[in-house]
Amino acid sequence: MEERLRSLYKLQLIDDQLDELEALRGDLPATVRDLELRISQLRSGYDEKIAEKEESTAKRETNLKEMEAMLENQKNYKARLYSVRNNKEYDSLTKAIDQADEEIRKKETENEALVEKEGRLQEEIESVEPLLTELETELAEKQEDLKVIVKSNEREENKIREERAAVEVKVKKPDYAKYLQIRKAKNGKGVVTIRRNACSGCHNVIPSQRQLDIRKKDRIYTCDSCGRMIVPGDVADSLN
Ligand SMILES: [Zn+2]
Repeated sequence: MEERLRSLYKLQLIDDQLDELEALRGDLPATVRDLELRISQLRSGYDEKIAEKEESTAKRETNLKEMEAMLENQKNYKARLYSVRNNKEYDSLTKAIDQADEEIRKKETENEALVEKEGRLQEEIESVEPLLTELETELAEKQEDLKVIVKSNEREENKIREERAAVEVKVKKPDYAKYLQIRKAKNGKGVVTIRRNACSGCHNVIPSQRQLDIRKKDRIYTCDSCGRMIVPGDVADSLN
């Protein structure tokens, strides 16, 4: 049982060291994540607008080609007006000419609207560009800062992680699960000890009978106030 308590406390000490290294990074990792998210959201809106604008331009060009073809047909109809042989033929030609006029006007109106839409999209695209550039520059800087910090602690961190892996296998599975659970809920501390008759986690006094029980090392006690697992002072001292 003493070894079980010792492994747990050792694990806590190692995780404290890792937490310290993590703290050196400050809010950089969170800042980088936020920036990446904002950029990807902006970028997808930006790409959509560019695609929409290109689609509009393509549609306009198709319209222009169709209008050209219609004008060409109209020219032919008009030429044929001079050589009609009867009223029926004349009527059908003038009808075709009028229809082409109407179709061409429709396309013109449609193209005017498309030009307007493209202008609006272009404005929106241009308004996003400086922000996107700014955020991307900021992200690159923060990523570089983070890289420098991570790099400078890399060797130390790897060494601590190796140590941790060696200790982790010694900790009993249920203890480990409980440790992780408390650690997550209690700001990184899952295992504490007794200092000046109090829990070193929440600083509430531990009754003397309970302290005696804890010192017997026959089971794992938790603090009545904060719920953290408690190892006796001598176990903690042997590791500090
Ligand atoms: Zn406590």
